[in-house]
Amino acid sequence: MPTYDFIRRARRQSDPDVVVVGAGLAGLAAARVLTGHGLSVQVLEATDRVGGRMATRELDGFRLDHGSQLLNTAYPELRRVLDLDRLELRPLAPGVLVHSGGRRYRAGDPQLTAARQATTRAPLGSPLDRARLGGWLGRLATTPAGRLQSRPETTTARALAERGPAPRAVDGFLRPLLSTLLSDPALGTSSRIADLVLRCYARGRLCLPAGGVAAVPAQLAAVLPAATVRTGVEVTAIAADGVETAGHGRIGAQAVVVATGARSAAELLPGLRVPDFHPVTTYYHAADRAPIGEPVLLLDGDRPGGQPALVSHSVVLTELHPSYAPAGQALIATTVLGRRSFDAGGPAALEPAVRGRLAELYGTPTRGWQFLSVRHVPDAVPAMPPPHNSRRPVRLLAGLYVCGDHRDTSSAQGALVSGRRAAEAVVRDLGLPVGAQEAAAA
Ligand SMILES: Cc1cc2nc3c(=O)[nH]c(=O)nc-3n(C[C@H](O)[C@H](O)[C@H](O)COP(=O)(O)OP(=O)(O)OC[C@H]3O[C@@H](n4cnc5c(N)ncnc54)[C@H](O)[C@@H]3O)c2cc1C
Repeated sequence: MPTYDFIRRARRQSDPDVVVVGAGLAGLAAARVLTGHGLSVQVLEATDRVGGRMATRELDGFRLDHGSQLLNTAYPELRRVLDLDRLELRPLAPGVLVHSGGRRYRAGDPQLTAARQATTRAPLGSPLDRARLGGWLGRLATTPAGRLQSRPETTTARALAERGPAPRAVDGFLRPLLSTLLSDPALGTSSRIADLVLRCYARGRLCLPAGGVAAVPAQLAAVLPAATVRTGVEVTAIAADGVETAGHGRIGAQAVVVATGARSAAELLPGLRVPDFHPVTTYYHAADRAPIGEPVLLLDGDRPGGQPALVSHSVVLTELHPSYAPAGQALIATTVLGRRSFDAGGPAALEPAVRGRLAELYGTPTRGWQFLSVRHVPDAVPAMPPPHNSRRPVRLLAGLYVCGDHRDTSSAQGALVSGRRAAEAVVRDLGLPVGAQEAAAA
């Protein structure tokens, strides 16, 4: 942990109690707890909108997320801080559809009993192997998260090889599923994180808000007191008693919470560790007709030459909710993982290859599809190799705090938890009682 030495300066009357830097999920979650304790808060956001990496934009009537994201109804913090009914979460079909070896099959529906899993036609080993996979998922769902966290930690790839179910179940289902859920095709992520992610998969449903993923931060921002969030204010320097901004002068505070994402946080707080990141590239296509008639997660399970396939997964978003596209159109979101560099022409130059693969995955011609857009996010998801600390310190010193997905787990769940943890540390340092609910959740 780096050390910081700051001199406190006088505050002006207009200064808030707390400045939060960044209006992503972590910053908004922190502001929610802080304002709930009666503190005045200013959330300073450099861009012109809230949400950070959770963004959605409209393009000619299509609703495009800032890279394809998936939530899970079993993320505990999502349930705690959001009104899920108002979010209109649309669940994906239970289980997944895997394309492998020239055929498509359903796998991993956690709602099926082990006996029913045994009767499915997925090429995941013998009926006994399939029943074992079902039982394995069922046990994960009911194992307390704390117990999973005490299992020996290694990479996900090694844990699957050493203690996973039968190899065909691993290759034909778990490997492509975990690559997708962890945004990590090499499966170098901590096995403890993979266990937690699979536990959520087995307990809940993958889903998205009807209004696009930006509906999540929008709801968090909407419950804050008016004028709490100030967009278009970039913070250029940090101290424990306030911040300097580009163009808006100095803003004093009793406490500062840095909620910017790992790379910007390290620029503002030199010495803070910068993790590696998993890049995510998402291609959006429009079609006159949906290539599949349900909102199912389609995984590419092939491994040409032992390497992950070009495409990781694809979803027809209009099957989740028709408002993702103009009437009569289908919107397809397809994700490519692990690409850091592209030939001349950038990610768009890869689109014909992606489209070609989609024809095989969906089993339908894609020549007539319209290429709408591609989003490449190099720093999409902080890597979590073993050993991974899912509760990195959020208090740097009295008055200075840091949160974001890089302090917990690299997900909406992790960002929300880290924001709450940082806010609780502020509340404690200011001598206010931490709410019973927060204490229980911590
Ligand atoms: C393509 C993609 C796919 C993903 N898929 C999933 C998924 O399927 N499931 C899942 O759970 N998670 C997924 N994630 C991760 C998830 O989006 C993040 O974990 C979460 O949104 C991080 O929130 P945060 O608040 O920690 O950081 P951010 O969202 O990065 O927010 C930081 C904010 O700080 C602002 N900021 C930065 N510097 C300054 C400054 N100097 N002054 C003021 N403001 C500043 C930024 O503009 C930004 O708004 C995905 C992410 C991406 C990009």
